[in-house]
Amino acid sequence: MSRGFNFSAGPAVLPEPVLRRAQAELLEWGGERASVMEVSHRGKAFIALAEKAEADLRALMGIPEDYAVLFLQGGATTHFALLPMNLAGPGQRADYLVTGAWSKKAASEGKAHCAVNVIADTADSQYTALPAPGSYTIDPGAAFVHLAANETIHGVEFPEAIDTGGVPLVADFSSSILSRPIDVTKYGVIYAGAQKNIGPSGLVVMVIRKDLLERPGQPRAKILSYKEHAAQGSMLNTPPTFAWYLAGLVFEWMREEGGVAEFAARNRRKAEALYAAIDGSGGFYRNPVTKEARSLMNVPFMLHDPALDAAFLKESEAAGLLALKGHRDLGGMRASLYNALPYEAVAALVDFMGDFARRHG
Ligand SMILES: *Cc1c(COP(=O)(O)O)cnc(C)c1O
Repeated sequence: MSRGFNFSAGPAVLPEPVLRRAQAELLEWGGERASVMEVSHRGKAFIALAEKAEADLRALMGIPEDYAVLFLQGGATTHFALLPMNLAGPGQRADYLVTGAWSKKAASEGKAHCAVNVIADTADSQYTALPAPGSYTIDPGAAFVHLAANETIHGVEFPEAIDTGGVPLVADFSSSILSRPIDVTKYGVIYAGAQKNIGPSGLVVMVIRKDLLERPGQPRAKILSYKEHAAQGSMLNTPPTFAWYLAGLVFEWMREEGGVAEFAARNRRKAEALYAAIDGSGGFYRNPVTKEARSLMNVPFMLHDPALDAAFLKESEAAGLLALKGHRDLGGMRASLYNALPYEAVAALVDFMGDFARRHG
């Protein structure tokens, strides 16, 4: 079997050159006479790998010196709990914007560790729009403001950081990190599970302003403390070494390809082609998200007749277009267009959609 075009929401497509390099180095890596999975994370070779991965990420994102970069575990979901534990004092308030399933889950998980104050919730729009900037008020005494920069399930993305009036902005970038340039200084914390735009699952990348590491937070074991992780180079315990290695290869590949600005241009081109096909289908396909809030990374779309869903999925898969089934909460389809997905994949999907509509319209 050959590889198909993979539209999976996550774990998701990885760059083919990265997979080939990992394949070539699998048995013997870096002169270690063993694979990268079989050597100590405290050895010279792995430490050099870890430092290079951080340096490449810093270069890609333009991360200033007053931010630490952490390579953590537990998926983004674990950090829904650890973030308030580290950044909020006992019983302290934190403001949450709820714009889809992930930010909703972050607020719900946060409740165990801070007084969650949902200042905006777009449930009324079925999460198809962003809250208008003047429609919510940030508490100047809040420990932080949390949002999901991109909602992977609902396909809603903040085009830029919101103004929090100095309260640290904590943003879940799991499905949009490195997809376009961002101004890191607008954020207190940027965090992302790796398995959408960075590498395999098992790794969480966090960019955190160093002064936030000094907050007392709540009583917690060392292993749950971001400050301790930062002090020990994210090696308090054994890190997910293979995931870290592969993330490093992805960062290297991105730099060779021209960096984040280049990927932003590619991502815009892919998303524009797909949204144009949906909007121009005369109602055969539909994306419910308001234009200003549409995600560049995750595009949910519905067929005008859900009875056609099964045929669409069967035929698209046979055509080599993989994992288009929508999330179970929304039904329909979803195409994820992460950095590693080539334009040819979207062109093939658009062709298929046109052909399917002609045959079933
Ligand atoms: C996938 C995803 C998560 C959950 O990630 P896990 O690694 O499964 O914990 C959280 N937030 C967003 C925006 C996601 O896309």
